[in-house]
Amino acid sequence: MSVNVEPPVLEGYDFIRTLGAGGTAAVFLYHQRVPNRLVAVKINETPLADRNSRNRFRSEANFMAQLSEHPYILSIYDAGITPGGRGYMVLEYARGGSYKDLSRSNQLPVDQVLTVGIDLASALFTAHKRGIIHRDIKPSNVLISTQGLPVIADFGISSTIYTTRGAKGFSIPWAPPEVLTGRSGGSEATDIYSLGATLFAMLVGRSPFEYGYKVKDTRELAQVIVDEDLPRIRRADVPKEFEKVLRRAMNKNPDARYYSMLEFARDMQRVQQQCYGHQTPVTVEDVPPYLPQQRRRGRQATDAAGPAAPQPRTWVRPLAIGASIVAAVAVIAALLVFVVMPRLDSARGADGTQVVGDDAKGLDSHDDPSPGLGATADSDVPSPTGLAGTLQDGTATFTWTNPDPQNGDRYAWNRVGSDSAQSDATSSFVDRPTVSIDGVTDDQVCIQVSIVRADRQMSTTPATACAVRK
Ligand code: ATP
Ligand code: MG
Repeated sequence: MSVNVEPPVLEGYDFIRTLGAGGTAAVFLYHQRVPNRLVAVKINETPLADRNSRNRFRSEANFMAQLSEHPYILSIYDAGITPGGRGYMVLEYARGGSYKDLSRSNQLPVDQVLTVGIDLASALFTAHKRGIIHRDIKPSNVLISTQGLPVIADFGISSTIYTTRGAKGFSIPWAPPEVLTGRSGGSEATDIYSLGATLFAMLVGRSPFEYGYKVKDTRELAQVIVDEDLPRIRRADVPKEFEKVLRRAMNKNPDARYYSMLEFARDMQRVQQQCYGHQTPVTVEDVPPYLPQQRRRGRQATDAAGPAAPQPRTWVRPLAIGASIVAAVAVIAALLVFVVMPRLDSARGADGTQVVGDDAKGLDSHDDPSPGLGATADSDVPSPTGLAGTLQDGTATFTWTNPDPQNGDRYAWNRVGSDSAQSDATSSFVDRPTVSIDGVTDDQVCIQVSIVRADRQMSTTPATACAVRK
């Protein structure tokens, strides 16, 4: 490619060969003497011009190191600046290459793409929680580790070290319309779009709009991404449900996409359970790995394109599910019946509109292209306290308390239960700490509730409670 950088002389490392080059950097394979291992060294073409940009480079490397703890984010071992003033990073060597090469030469199995999607969404949710937006998710930035696992590379390096990326820096085939028209410099919603486009490409071998339209250059491609409909996936073994998930992630309107990477991952888990009978766990600290209602693994696979087999109701035998959330919910339900419910008879006045995918007012505050290098994670968002509910005359009413209210707080809630009929795949949002559910015919209704801050961070652990019919 265009980058022309010599492999640097690095003490303790011996150059082996070139691995590749992108728009702004070259990547080389080195042998590190102590410890004895192969590493990838990525060096930027543009020297870090002044002291300020050098300091920012160091902060960025520190931040990368924090993100590296995630199993699906490429590890960084070291970083430095060459005598010529170029920043370099010593990185985990991803032996398997990138998904760009893999998906070009193979048609990846759909179940595998779902697994990769859940893994990557977990990694990106973890990054988002720390205020880092990737901005350049695409198949060439998803590498394959020695263990064969997907790992995200290039975490915001060029977009945060150098103040602007400009049109040159953006990877047009994977960028959403609002980036291409200059309305956004990057947000959670833009990463969600790009991950959707990346998974789409893993299924069909090309970026979505290059797959669907004949374009002669990148200008035309950008125009098509902004103006034209997302093409349909012409692959018979891709379940419609998965295609729907990708269409939502890639909605032209950022507010109609998933609310967070976690919600995106959860929906892929739902599809995987429904179509392939198992779920890849979400890998996010303090977040339950499986969908609450469908936590067991190894169920018999159903027809990939067909509807899900009805799930047996397991709610009546929660002990058999061990320490799952269902059991926890049952304990809370019992507590409600005997301890809490009598005090809540008068709770009323709910505002429970379904707003998933709609404009969440005041929640889109990550459009600043510089999220702050070296910033540390905000303190964790607490769980709602005192969540409790009543169920009378077909209406369940829940209330809770926000232990640390902040400006712009809202609440995400959804029904949970042991089968999909009782559970909502997506959350609803309310402004006030109360919710009413009408038309309930079951003997009990359980919900989980998270606090959602104005910056989209959510309670690390949602509160769960049930209302039981009197
Ligand atoms: P862009 O510059 O637009 O991000 P890119 O991702 O292809 O494009 P680079 O990040 O510079 O460019 O990477 C160039 C190539 O080097 C990649 O395509 C990848 O195959 C390879 N590569 C990058 N990092 C590693 C690594 N840690 N281990 C193995 N190969 C790598
Ligand atoms: Mg790259």
